[in-house]
This record gives sequence, structure tokens and C-alpha cells, in this order.
Amino acid sequence: MTEIENNKGQAEDLVIDKQYRLQEKSKAIEIIKRGMDIAREEIPKGRVATYIPELGKVDPHQLGIVINPLKGEKICMGDYDVRFTMQSVCKVIMLIVALELCGREAVFSKVGMEPSGEAFDSLVELDVSNSKPYNPLINSGGLALCGLLLPELSFQDILRFTRSICSDPEIVLDEVVYQSEMKTCSRNRSIAYLLQSKGILKKDVEDTLRFYTKMCSMSATADSLSNLGVILANDGVCAETGKRFMPSRTARIVKTLMLTCGMYDGSGSFAIKVGIPTKSGVGGGLLSVSDKRAGIGVFGPALDTQGNSIAGCKLLREISNDLRLNLFYDPEWNKETEEENDIIRGIRGSHVI
Ligand code: GLN
Repeated sequence: MTEIENNKGQAEDLVIDKQYRLQEKSKAIEIIKRGMDIAREEIPKGRVATYIPELGKVDPHQLGIVINPLKGEKICMGDYDVRFTMQSVCKVIMLIVALELCGREAVFSKVGMEPSGEAFDSLVELDVSNSKPYNPLINSGGLALCGLLLPELSFQDILRFTRSICSDPEIVLDEVVYQSEMKTCSRNRSIAYLLQSKGILKKDVEDTLRFYTKMCSMSATADSLSNLGVILANDGVCAETGKRFMPSRTARIVKTLMLTCGMYDGSGSFAIKVGIPTKSGVGGGLLSVSDKRAGIGVFGPALDTQGNSIAGCKLLREISNDLRLNLFYDPEWNKETEEENDIIRGIRGSHVI
């Protein structure tokens, strides 16, 4: 287990202050360490994904995080440099590329902007109540976007873009996981045929499936996800190089959808408990964007029943307020809690509840 890496700025500037600077690095490290200890206790309650047989072989006890602040040093803890497949996290990349290449109108003619309230691989709501996938961050939405991108883009183009936006030249196609998923992807195949029957997918089903599954099988680390996250936090620009990867409007759409739909049918409770736009993948990855503050990458392959990293979610929950990463963080919170207690006491006193 490796801990803490200083590769930007000075040691004194960490825990994010009111100007969104990460202050007091030692305090931040303490908060994250405590969060890791609490989060690890969740691991036995989770399971690695087994519907992709190769993912079933991954050690569930791993947990790592990278906090990559816009201003200040990166903090890396635990299994932050272990490679895992992006799985659904790649839908964020698909969406960025589709918005850039095809435009907003074309993208939202194929997919909606609403949370589905269903499992990530559901096809029920698509069949019964809707003419297109609810949003681009579930399997049906990702497959629809792949249909839009093919054949203009090749997998190699996506891989090149992913390496660049994640500042990670070592991202490769994990051929073993890819082959494993291709053998067991009948559900995604069904979704693709359903999309075809509804006229949303106009490309060959097998080509689309291969393209989609290859993207899901790109190998990343918590560190590479944090690099992508901090670019989104900075409205599409890499703060270090000044390179713009997307217009700020695209970054805003992506972050909004991550908040409302990124955790599938767990998106609402995650937004309330954690308050950080996040996209999960069944490989155990979490890509989080604390707007204007930090990009965060997490790896924890034991999943909850919704397919989200069980320890990763707990870890983010533990640190989000203390590190001021919550989108709705308010320094007056503690005071408010006192006020709320007074209000509740008042209400109880008046026998309303
Ligand atoms: N490749 C996976 C699938 O299509 C991705 C799902 C996920 O990460 N939630 O089922």
C-alpha cells in the first residue's frame, strides 16, 4: 500500500478553504485516512461483479483514492495506482466525445436527460414507457451513443483521447476483460436490438457492441480518473497546461448528468449523502468532480446491490463535508444543525410530530 504523493505545489496548501484552495495537507490526510478505515468496514457487505467472469477474479479488498485539487497538491492513498477496467465510467468519455463530434441536438435526439430509476442494464423502461434511453450514463444510453459515434470514430481514436484527457499514456484495452464480457453480453445485445427496433440504433448491432465493450474495457487507475475529474472541475481546461479539452458548456452538461444519473438508481441518495457529481463503473471505479475544487478518482471493486463501489461510496461520504467537496457545502452547516434541532424541539414541543 502506497501513501501520499506530493507532485504539485507546496506542502502547506491543502483541506479546501473558502476560496476553494486545499489547505492543511496533514489535516486532509488525517480525514482521508479515517475515511478509508471506516470505508474498509463496508467491503465484506459488497461483492465483485461476476456477470463479467473476469471481474469476478478481482481482489475485493482493494481500496484507493486520489484527490486532485485544482489548487494544491494531489493526495494519493491506498491502491491508487492499481489498474482496473473503466466499465461505465467510460460513458462520461463517450458523452464528451459525442457532444463534441455530433452536437447537443444529435446526442439528445438519441438519449434523454432524466434519471431512469432502474438498474444500469435495464431494458424494461426503454421497452415499455420510452422511445429512447432515459440518459447517456446507463447501458442503453451508452449503446445509443456508440451508434452515433460509429463509424466516424474508431476505438483507437477514443483510446487516444482517453489517454490524453486522463494524462495516462498507459491506458490500454484490457483484452482479457473485453473477451470475457463479449462472451456474456447477451443483455447488452438485447438492449442493442431493442434500440434497433425503435430506430435509435442505425448501425450494426455487433459492431456497436464491440465498440461499446472495448471502451468499457479500457484500463485506468484512481489517479487517471482524478486527472479527468479535475479537468471537468475546471470547466474543461487542464489547469497545468492550459489545454482546453471541451467547451465549458459540455463540461457543465456532463457534470449535471453525473449528479443526477451517474450512480444509476442510487443517484438521488448519493447526491443527498455525498453531494459530489460521480460516475461509477462495475470495475469498482468512481470518477468524481467537486466543481471548481478537485477531481477525485476512487477504486474499490466490491460493489453494492446497485453496482456502485460499496467502500468507495462510503469513503466519499465520509470525506465530502470535512474536505468541503460537497457541491452544496455551506460553512454555516454546524450552526444550522443547532438551529434545526431548535426547530425540531419546538415542533415536538407543540406536538406536531
Ligand atoms: N460493461 C458493463 C456493462 O455493459 C458496464 C456496466 C457498468 O459499469 N455499470 O454491463
